[in-house]
Amino acid sequence: MTDIFYSLESEVRSYSRSWPVEFVQASGATQTDASGAEYLDFFSGAGALNYGHNNPVVIEPLIEYLQSGAVLHSMDMMTPAKRDFLQTFKDVILEPRELPYKVMFPGPTGTNTVEAALKLARKYTGRQHILSFTNAFHGMTLGALSVTGNSMKRQGAGIPLTNSSKIPYDDYFDGETADFLWLERVLEDSGSGVDKPAAIIVETVQGEGGLRAARFDWLRRLSALCAEHEILLIVDDVQAGCGRTGTFFSFEEAGIVPDIVCLSKSIAGSGLPMALTLFRPELDIWSPGEHNGTFRGNNPAFVTATAALKEYWADPSFQEGLATTIDVMHARLGSIAVTTSGAGVRGRGLLSGLCFEDAEAAGKIAAEAFRQGLLLETSGPKDEVVKIMPPLTVTADELERGLDILEAAVRTVTG
Ligand code: PMP
Repeated sequence: MTDIFYSLESEVRSYSRSWPVEFVQASGATQTDASGAEYLDFFSGAGALNYGHNNPVVIEPLIEYLQSGAVLHSMDMMTPAKRDFLQTFKDVILEPRELPYKVMFPGPTGTNTVEAALKLARKYTGRQHILSFTNAFHGMTLGALSVTGNSMKRQGAGIPLTNSSKIPYDDYFDGETADFLWLERVLEDSGSGVDKPAAIIVETVQGEGGLRAARFDWLRRLSALCAEHEILLIVDDVQAGCGRTGTFFSFEEAGIVPDIVCLSKSIAGSGLPMALTLFRPELDIWSPGEHNGTFRGNNPAFVTATAALKEYWADPSFQEGLATTIDVMHARLGSIAVTTSGAGVRGRGLLSGLCFEDAEAAGKIAAEAFRQGLLLETSGPKDEVVKIMPPLTVTADELERGLDILEAAVRTVTG
């Protein structure tokens, strides 16, 4: 990371990212700063703005709702906005995919849904140990942090993070398969000293951990191993879900059905905080009050979520257009990578980017892109990956302009 990112003031020092301007307006894939300068936003609120900023599809029903005098905050109570969301989610997302899930509101954030998933898995199985993967990121509270890989973030807990171990993610060995030999063996071996896990939690693409993408057959093998040993499979789709990889759930193409799914970020469709924990019906074991929280009834978020699902996911043409956007972006990333020494493409769908052998190049490219009017973030244990996450609704022209800036920044930095 270069100074430009660190030279700025945040109220507190713990944020890793800041840009030296004040953003005052936003529309679609564009943000405008106080001086009137425009930036293409290929950061998309770290995946919370899959349909862009202030998209009229979600903003108009929201304004109407706010002016109607309807309930804004309802905790666990039923409201028409909540009922509409649940019905739409069932009709548009779950039923067409024949997914059997019950839907729980775990609280407003991605971390909340991960905590709920881990706690539920432990309660259901009566086991404590959870397996997760090298370079995983699942959130910043104690349970979620315990299954996160990054040592710097883990040390911030200040106490030992117990009852979880890491195993190598697919492609951990840079092109060599990370297979399941170790896992298969220890699950059979009562003398291994490895406690049988309650659950294995996985991201299909490691959003914060460097955009490694698991192969579909690797995910299928993982799912089969979990089923064989009665270990719950949790897919953390907080960043990769809601269409980022080209399908609503990132695991659809692999043909697996996880036991628990974590969604947040773009589920509200508007940037409003919202999260869901989806689980198989037999996991509905909590008694009333056993897992609760105040902010589980954010009705404005239900309204925008419902509008986004109806507009984009009830109509197959959205997903077809998305596939074209993904193809165009990948063709271009591929051509930049092959003409840049030490560069490669990582990721899947619109959760992709360029990785660099010289890790510092990634931060310099993001800083240069900012100077040229493109917002990008970096990812990976050494911040060695430039993440390219345009909104799913990016236009062909915006995509081309953004990728032109990216290419120019890569050329400037790598010479
Ligand atoms: N899981 C994944 C895969 C994430 O990418 C994130 C956020 N980057 C989280 C969980 C945590 O979400 P939140 O920041 O909303 O707590």
